[in-house]
Amino acid sequence: MQMRLPLQVERILDILNANGYEAYAVGGCVRDLLLGREPKDWDITTSARPKQVKSLFPRTVDTGIRHGTITVLMDGKGYEVTTYRIDGEYEDGRHPSRVEYTANLLEDLKRRDFTINAMAYRHDVGVVDAFGGREDLEKKSIRCVGDAIERFTEDALRILRAIRFSAQLGFSVEEKTWEAIGVIAPNLAKVSKERIQVELSKTLLSGHPEQMGGVFEQGVSGYISPAFARIPWGQIRIPASLPARKYVRWAALLRQTDPEEAVRVLKDLKMDNGTVAKVKTLLAWSGKEVQPEPAPVRRAMGSMEAEVWDALLDFNAYGPRIRSLTRQIREKGDCLDLKHLAVNGQDLIDAGMKPGRELGQILNRLLDMVLECPEKNRKEALLEIGKAMGKG
Ligand code: ATP
Ligand code: MG
Repeated sequence: MQMRLPLQVERILDILNANGYEAYAVGGCVRDLLLGREPKDWDITTSARPKQVKSLFPRTVDTGIRHGTITVLMDGKGYEVTTYRIDGEYEDGRHPSRVEYTANLLEDLKRRDFTINAMAYRHDVGVVDAFGGREDLEKKSIRCVGDAIERFTEDALRILRAIRFSAQLGFSVEEKTWEAIGVIAPNLAKVSKERIQVELSKTLLSGHPEQMGGVFEQGVSGYISPAFARIPWGQIRIPASLPARKYVRWAALLRQTDPEEAVRVLKDLKMDNGTVAKVKTLLAWSGKEVQPEPAPVRRAMGSMEAEVWDALLDFNAYGPRIRSLTRQIREKGDCLDLKHLAVNGQDLIDAGMKPGRELGQILNRLLDMVLECPEKNRKEALLEIGKAMGKG
């Protein structure tokens, strides 16, 4: 069976072949090709050593040279070319302590996590599928290559990868693999929180976020963090129709968790501050009614970034009236915050007012007026009112 590869990938494979090396497209891209999905990136596996790869292509980056990976740059895109390898002992349940190269493609495929990720392809050979990957694609099944207990023991992150792929592909986890998840879950305590967070986020952002349930059902959650384990999963609904934004999906997961505890969950996972801030805003507004009138909608909109307000429309399932008010307010360009008020502190000082706390209060009262009545956002008029407030 012939599959379509990007020209750049064909060129890389051809150049390696022409120089006497084996080379194949491998892993996720082969899986996605077989599924008729557009691969996100293209990985190549080759018998050539990193030094040899570098000598054959003019533009390369030593991305993971210690693990045999060279990025080949072609037409502005990067392609990871990795030497066939066998992973050595895993010391911490995560990093192979040494990398050993091999001349044998099958050995390289054997070190990969799941059968559906352990296939290689090139035009003249076709799909190399030594572990029943195609059959598992047919069965929609995530299954470890080899013994699941051993494979999760080598690298416990694979537990979350199994759940993540099941969520992205809408597959189920094969029985032995599923059982092994429960058995090896404690090893996740040794895995870096950032990597855990990345997998959980990909699961939440997938087409089947409900697969996150596996983390709770198989006793994995307690090894992510104590606060995470307290999330009342049974009460959580993450509709796939919810915007696929990281902070929105995390907020949905944390909807039944009190805000302080929710922040603890996110901090435990080393979540970036921008995401934490947005989750906090959504949770603070979770379930709050907004009166479907212009002024209350303007007030709500003014209290958060435009993007977060848009997310809140879905998060709280606000009705058509609030949505159409949002559109109108934006079309008119109504002032929603101090930044867009027609006067600022300096204007008031120039008009003879003293800097200080009172000035800030006056600005806020002026904003309050303008939120009620956007026509009032005019410099001269606001200056007069501001001065009068200052005297009063
Ligand atoms: P995605 O579409 O998310 O990129 P992918 O299958 O390409 O999915 P990557 O994390 O990019 O996943 O890894 C590329 C390939 O490397 C995988 O398909 C798999 O063969 C192998 N791999 C990655 N991580 C592991 C791991 N922790 N253990 C074993 N094999 C792995
Ligand atoms: Mg990939």
